[in-house]
Amino acid sequence: MKEIDLRSDTVTRPTKEMLQAIMTAKVGDDVYKEDPTVNELEKKLAEMFGKDEALFFPTGSMTNQAAIKLHTQPGEQLICDKWAHVYNYEGGGVSFNSGVSCKLVDGDRGMITAEQVEESINPPDFYHSPLTTLVCLENTTNKGGGACYDLEEIKKIRQVCNKHELGLHLDGARLFNALVKKGESAKDYGKLFDTISVCLSKGLGTPMGSVLIGDSRLMKNAIRIRKVLGGGMRQIGFMAAAGVYALENHVERLAKDHQRATEIAEVLEEQKYVGKVEPVETNIVIFYLENVSMEESFMKQLADNDIRISNMGQGKLRIVTHLDYTQEMHERFLETLHNIEL
Ligand SMILES: *Cc1c(COP(=O)(O)O)cnc(C)c1O
Repeated sequence: MKEIDLRSDTVTRPTKEMLQAIMTAKVGDDVYKEDPTVNELEKKLAEMFGKDEALFFPTGSMTNQAAIKLHTQPGEQLICDKWAHVYNYEGGGVSFNSGVSCKLVDGDRGMITAEQVEESINPPDFYHSPLTTLVCLENTTNKGGGACYDLEEIKKIRQVCNKHELGLHLDGARLFNALVKKGESAKDYGKLFDTISVCLSKGLGTPMGSVLIGDSRLMKNAIRIRKVLGGGMRQIGFMAAAGVYALENHVERLAKDHQRATEIAEVLEEQKYVGKVEPVETNIVIFYLENVSMEESFMKQLADNDIRISNMGQGKLRIVTHLDYTQEMHERFLETLHNIEL
């Protein structure tokens, strides 16, 4: 029996075709900017988003951290949702790398409104408080269960940022899920954000890599910050080739992951042992059992069937669908959910 791993969309292995693209990539030393495949990937993403420049990084934490560094000075403050990845899951990098604090907003499933942003800005003349200089949004939200922003709300946030001269950064680790779900274009996002980070190693299924996209004004220092963070890589065109391949072949298929996540949520809703299921918009399902004490037995029965999901604590369970989750696995998983007894 093949293991069904639904802990995250980062668990995927490169497909045969992607491996072929990796094996045949033309490479050079990217620290000298001489890797043709990295240059191709960066150009492709910059154009896709209608921005001047893009820069390849090893991880999404590093693109976010570099962006925060580009936008801020030590002592300043950024605004983000209380569930934001930049605040919760980057090892405290905001303070470690940039000396910046976070004003946390109590948003809805990881999403904040223009009104909340405006209320969170410290008055710039009030020198007792840190100076607010940056807003970070996440789309889709991770801890918020793959929720997608309404583009109209982002436009309003942009206006607030313009009015108060704040930078606007997008943690778009799963932005392609949102684009496919909402039928939006990358250029819509390029127009609204100063910097955008996208991950190639989540739904797109590459072994590694994230890209930071922005205009030259901000990006001119990005390569130095990447160096400082230890993110300068050499013949990394092999991984960029996986990215180019994924952008051409793995974007539209995200709809399949979304469909399967919706079907999983529907089956969970019908089960007596399930309490609440959060609304599903993309490839993440967050749900709670009827009773927290059922968790151990639930996880064990899944494990007995070679199925793994994430326990996020406080009764929160998470399922993420992805490229390596096949229709056959999907059917077996749904059947297992029906058969669990608690
Ligand atoms: C995965 C993820 C990242 C980046 O994570 P890395 O593991 O550092 O690549 C950033 N933001 C969000 C919302 C994520 O889900």
